[in-house]
Amino acid sequence: MPSEATNEPFDAEVIVVGAGPVGLTTGCAMRHYGVDCLILEERTEVRAYSRANNLWARPQELLASIGLRDAIAERAYPVRLVNFFMNGTPTTPIQIDDVTSPHPQVLYSGQDVIETTLIETYEGRGGRMQRGGKVVAVA
Ligand SMILES: Cc1cc2nc3c(=O)[nH]c(=O)nc-3n(C[C@H](O)[C@H](O)[C@H](O)COP(=O)(O)OP(=O)(O)OC[C@H]3O[C@@H](n4cnc5c(N)ncnc54)[C@H](O)[C@@H]3O)c2cc1C
Repeated sequence: MPSEATNEPFDAEVIVVGAGPVGLTTGCAMRHYGVDCLILEERTEVRAYSRANNLWARPQELLASIGLRDAIAERAYPVRLVNFFMNGTPTTPIQIDDVTSPHPQVLYSGQDVIETTLIETYEGRGGRMQRGGKVVAVA
């Protein structure tokens, strides 16, 4: 994959395009297994707002298997119960931690917080990231 700026190829075992939650998790997984990884991201900064908020039991189990779940949990609120109100009157609460899992509670956080945590972990594991360039072709 040549770099537009230098026309030199990038040197990495795996190149991931995009530093959203999926790309960053992939990068962290690569580093967890000792694979040399380079992430290319066109944004120069982490998004300053959230889009995804909730991590349910199954994704937490997957994240735990590559050593990511606890770092995210440290910056999240564990949720056991959801309360609904109808015209100001509370309705029956819904329990959401009644799932068989080592991590039954839902972790409530923000995508900006999750991305920042994943970047810190990825870089702490020796992952490389280059920002500010859009990938336009892969050869
Ligand atoms: C309003 C809104 C609310 C949402 N709420 C929730 C929620 O409550 N719970 C939930 O689970 N999900 C929610 N989502 C969905 C969640 O945000 C996405 O599923 C998640 O962001 C997908 O992650 P991703 O890494 O695949 O993509 P993205 O987060 O979109 O990341 C892709 C990255 O790739 C980069 N990129 C793309 N093309 C290139 C290129 N050619 N070269 C270099 N870089 C490139 C982009 O700049 C971006 O940073 C919501 C989404 C929106 C829009």
